Amino acid sequence: MTTAPARAVEPAPPELYDELTEEQATEADQFALNNAIATVFHEAGHMLVSEFSLPVLGKEEDAVDGLAVLLLLEAEDEDFNSAVEDWANIWFLSAGAKEDQADDIAFWDSHGLDEQRAYATVCLMVGKDKERFQDFAQSIDYPEYRAEECLGEYQSQLQSWEKVLKPHEASKSDKTAFTITYAPTKNPQLAYFREIIKTAGVMEMVAAAFSGSYKLKDGIKLTATECGVANAFWSADDREMTLCYEDLLNSAELDAQWYIDNPDGEEQQAEDEDAVEAEDTDEASPPRQRQPIVPQAGTSRSG
Ligand SMILES: [Zn+2]
Repeated sequence: MTTAPARAVEPAPPELYDELTEEQATEADQFALNNAIATVFHEAGHMLVSEFSLPVLGKEEDAVDGLAVLLLLEAEDEDFNSAVEDWANIWFLSAGAKEDQADDIAFWDSHGLDEQRAYATVCLMVGKDKERFQDFAQSIDYPEYRAEECLGEYQSQLQSWEKVLKPHEASKSDKTAFTITYAPTKNPQLAYFREIIKTAGVMEMVAAAFSGSYKLKDGIKLTATECGVANAFWSADDREMTLCYEDLLNSAELDAQWYIDNPDGEEQQAEDEDAVEAEDTDEASPPRQRQPIVPQAGTSRSG
């Protein structure tokens, strides 16, 4: 008797997608992908801090949140701009999902509170390009006076990072060899998100952004895998970044739940977009406005 060769599991979308239209499911996939991109750049911030023993004045989590957003915005690429918008959106969604646990707000956590992470991201967005992100800022009633302050804060954060990274910039011939892995999984839903990030080349984006930019030593591991928890990590000892497939599933489920809870909001949004298009086709399309959603069990994200 011979043993059948191990067969790859057939990827399957999250169950919540059964309640979405095809278009909404595609949006939820993109939302998960965008947040995975922002997440790996956040972890890359921890990587730079530990590899170069950078000084961190204040909370490291806040600092690397800032770096992730700066890097994405400085690319001046519409795909990355959308990733930043979704990074802000997920903290609003995540905060909404925890509304029923108001007594358990983790004021002591190493990370800022979800809403603070959302608004800090919006500050950098309007600090970088007030016009581009005007609709997004308006959709969340971002205060005008705060947007004005953010212009200076953006430049301050950008210059601070440039200053501490300057001594570590690569010379022309410097390249870093990263080891990229998308570990197999037997879980069909996690396999579904493995496909998405592998096809998009999320870890390759990190390698491309940092190889030839900074003097990082070879051998850093960029690993996407099943972890048993919705999270992402940087391990200084192992010199390894880990992105958990569960983190993508969690993002997609938060987005899917938003669509399920806001069928009218989406209709309203579609009308608004038509109106904008009729007025001025050059206008950036407005972000999907997200009000706090009905509490839904979501795993907390950290790392
Ligand atoms: Zn972190």
